[in-house]
Amino acid sequence: MKRLLSLVPLFVAAIVSHNGTKAAESQPNIVLIVADDLGYGDLGYLGGKDVPTPNVDKLAADGVRFTSGYVSGPYCSPTRAGLLTGKYQQRFGHEFNPGQGPNSADIGLSVNEATLANRLKSAGYTTGLVGKWHLGNAEKFRPPQRGYDEFFGFLGGAHPYFIEDRQAPIYRGNEEVKESEYLTDAFTREAVSFIDRHKEKPFFLQLTYNAVHTPMHAKPEHKKQFASIADETRRNYAGMLFAMDEGIGKVVDALQKAGVRENTLIAFISDNGGPPVNGSSNGSLRGFKATTWEGGVRVPFILNWPGQLQAAEYHQPVIQLDLLPTILAAVGKPVAAEEKLDGVNLLPFLKGDATGAPHESLFWRFGQQTAIRQGDWKLVKANGIDQPALFNLKDDIGEQHDKSASEPEVFAKLQKTWDEWNATLVEPAWKPAAQQHGAKGKGKGKGKGQNKNKNL
Ligand code: CA
Repeated sequence: MKRLLSLVPLFVAAIVSHNGTKAAESQPNIVLIVADDLGYGDLGYLGGKDVPTPNVDKLAADGVRFTSGYVSGPYCSPTRAGLLTGKYQQRFGHEFNPGQGPNSADIGLSVNEATLANRLKSAGYTTGLVGKWHLGNAEKFRPPQRGYDEFFGFLGGAHPYFIEDRQAPIYRGNEEVKESEYLTDAFTREAVSFIDRHKEKPFFLQLTYNAVHTPMHAKPEHKKQFASIADETRRNYAGMLFAMDEGIGKVVDALQKAGVRENTLIAFISDNGGPPVNGSSNGSLRGFKATTWEGGVRVPFILNWPGQLQAAEYHQPVIQLDLLPTILAAVGKPVAAEEKLDGVNLLPFLKGDATGAPHESLFWRFGQQTAIRQGDWKLVKANGIDQPALFNLKDDIGEQHDKSASEPEVFAKLQKTWDEWNATLVEPAWKPAAQQHGAKGKGKGKGKGQNKNKNL
């Protein structure tokens, strides 16, 4: 941390000479892009073949590509709760998705927790959220009350892409608005507008596309473009992913035109792994969304900051909880150590000022499903197996060869470490959404145990 701070005067000097003399302009802009239910194997840079994703691939190629990037939950809302607080969300009971609609008036991201937007606003940033929220519907939970100067998007976990299908509202601030554009394009338009309007001062833009979450709605031109994909769900998925990638390209262009690209840190992740229901592919990973297998929690993870971070692959395990402390360090307002966040500032590791691994262990708990990763080892209890199983991810990323019998000491050590972590957590503040709605939690076929509730 000390060595990182020593870098600050250098980039302050560089920015002032480029942009003028305002002290505030020394702080980088932050663009945090979150995809929804994106398959681990579907981006070009991660081996995807049938959907061109040149814009995300370019962010990856020019930035830091995390090859063991994780999220702390295999579901939309828990992951976002961890992302915006820098803490394992089970520390404050946000283990499951909140329910939808008026029945969930008391369920949302605890108002006792400061969000990333709260913190950046305190640091003088103009803050905006464009896209999906999914951290509570009641007014006190909504983005305008959680640190965002501007909000354009929807509150729930999923939203139709075409106006004729919409039932829940789109909001601007706290007001409902009529939005007729294809939703991904509308979010891109609003993100570009936010950049154009706020380029003169440091800004934080959180762009949480709901692509490629269900419902599977692609634009007609994209259905045509991907007509060679025989499976209809996959064809729609391809169109939805392509539209998101196009949008991200427009956002990067807007930064370029505004003259702030060099001084903007862009982070890109998916909120969880791909589920079978949207036609996604998690590549060689086992499992999918809603499980603690790698297919549920290992995600595309990119940091791109042209002025500060060299293009590289980074192999140590990291987690989305790290983004909050990393971003706050980047803007010169590092989180105090006394806060004891679970996330770690990654910048010293990326700049070569710190060696070793940012985390000794990463942990998961999602109801009865659990996992811990320590070095290359992962101990996991997930849908489809009755007992915890031990895998060495270095040569078994697909979690196929259980080493429990041959590595009893590793097994015991990981189990003990997980138990100790688990003892620091609280009980879930509410039940899983499926139970709230009385829906059946069981899927079928390959998605055995997968919750098929479309409002996930
Ligand atoms: Ca999701």
